[in-house]
Amino acid sequence: MQAEQELGEKCGVFGVFTKRPEAARLVYSGLWALQHRGQESSGIVSSDGQDLYRHVRSGLVAHAYDEEALDGLKGNVAIGHNRYSTSGGTQSTHGQPIVMSDLALAHNGNLPTTKKLEAFLNEKGVPMDGLNDSALMAAAITHYMDQGKSLEDAVAEAYPLFTGAFSVVVMDSTKLVAFRDHCGIRPLSLGRLADGLVVSSETCALDIIGAAFWRDVKPGEMVIIDRTGLRSIQLAKPNPKLDIFEFVYFARPDSLLLGRSVNAVRRQMGMQLAREYPLNADVVIPVPDSAIPAAIGYARESGIPFDQALIKNRYIHRTFIQPAQRLRDKSVEMKLNPLPETLIGRDVIVIDDSIVRGTTTKKIVRMLYGAGAKKVHVLISSPPVKFPDFYGIDTPSPKELLAARMTVAEMEDYVGADSLGFLSYDGLISATGLPESCFSASCFTGVYPIDIGEKAAVLK
Ligand code: AMP
Repeated sequence: MQAEQELGEKCGVFGVFTKRPEAARLVYSGLWALQHRGQESSGIVSSDGQDLYRHVRSGLVAHAYDEEALDGLKGNVAIGHNRYSTSGGTQSTHGQPIVMSDLALAHNGNLPTTKKLEAFLNEKGVPMDGLNDSALMAAAITHYMDQGKSLEDAVAEAYPLFTGAFSVVVMDSTKLVAFRDHCGIRPLSLGRLADGLVVSSETCALDIIGAAFWRDVKPGEMVIIDRTGLRSIQLAKPNPKLDIFEFVYFARPDSLLLGRSVNAVRRQMGMQLAREYPLNADVVIPVPDSAIPAAIGYARESGIPFDQALIKNRYIHRTFIQPAQRLRDKSVEMKLNPLPETLIGRDVIVIDDSIVRGTTTKKIVRMLYGAGAKKVHVLISSPPVKFPDFYGIDTPSPKELLAARMTVAEMEDYVGADSLGFLSYDGLISATGLPESCFSASCFTGVYPIDIGEKAAVLK
């Protein structure tokens, strides 16, 4: 389930280069499909070959645009971004895409250290006041463009200054460029339209505009898309390490990651959970929406019937909850309502995808007992989250992570369930059907494949 406001992943990015002068409309549709990756603000920059047009507003895609705004976003090339506020806070000044000189940039990920980048900009006399990690990247690329380099040459020059997780789309008035860090921590895929090319954080957003999935942008790769088609330049030696949490929670089930269906992998996680925790119970229920595939998998493997017992109000969003601080304690109750008919007098297995702070699980357990459940077994379709993430998921510090402070037995006590179990790490890997070496699993293992610089102090 979507947690309260401090958790987040920034963000969703989308880019289109087409022959039609309506790239922004396609980006707008793509951003609808990427809403789950960020609800703080949404923006699009487009170009007609001359000027850059920008529209960025706070709130959901549904609220950020109107006809007039879309009409103003002219041209055949456009990029878009849905933002989830993290390090930069919630100010609209941090809304993306960022425009600097002739460049527009949208970033998904996070640079845990910007020392090298700042030292470079400092040396070049580029002002950095108030710039977050994404804006610093834009400033470095702009610096090289101001020296007369093409967009792609400027990206190639600046690339070694970037330390962290970045799936980025950039554009100028004539082309679209996309690139990923050498580990490919955050996803980024390419799609084909009849008359153009598309770059998207997730493949589910390709489907919505009728683009066919082509391939992923490779870790360390830069693709350049213009009137002549697509060119690829490998900027760094790849060391593929997709964040496994994309499979666990972030990505939509109708996306493909590393060519695999997220829905199918989550179902496998649930099946594996059933093999690791065979329990007697009357019913298996998911915490909607993210745990539905895992609960289906558990039910299928165990033979225990699947049912729904927590009904989600689809219209409660972060942006609604945030201003009403006094409602925060009620946030789970506002999002989920129990169905007594599934619960009264029954032994229930409730499946969720993860426990971060533990507040959601505790409230859900209380809710299920309150609605009449006799026993509540909580099973989590991923291992305990023991370490913070520095690559774009805004997880809290270790002292706020339940599993960093408590054993599983203590957590069971804390959430107040009859039993609590987590999918094993090996079980998680096997559910993906891919080797462990393909993934960054830092929130479970504490192994960080890209230097986290000064952030390492948080772990002490
Ligand atoms: P918590 O109450 O902090 O334990 O949050 C756990 C719940 O948040 C689970 O239901 C997950 O589906 C969901 N969740 C896990 N990671 C994130 C994240 N980074 N952002 C938002 N929700 C998350």
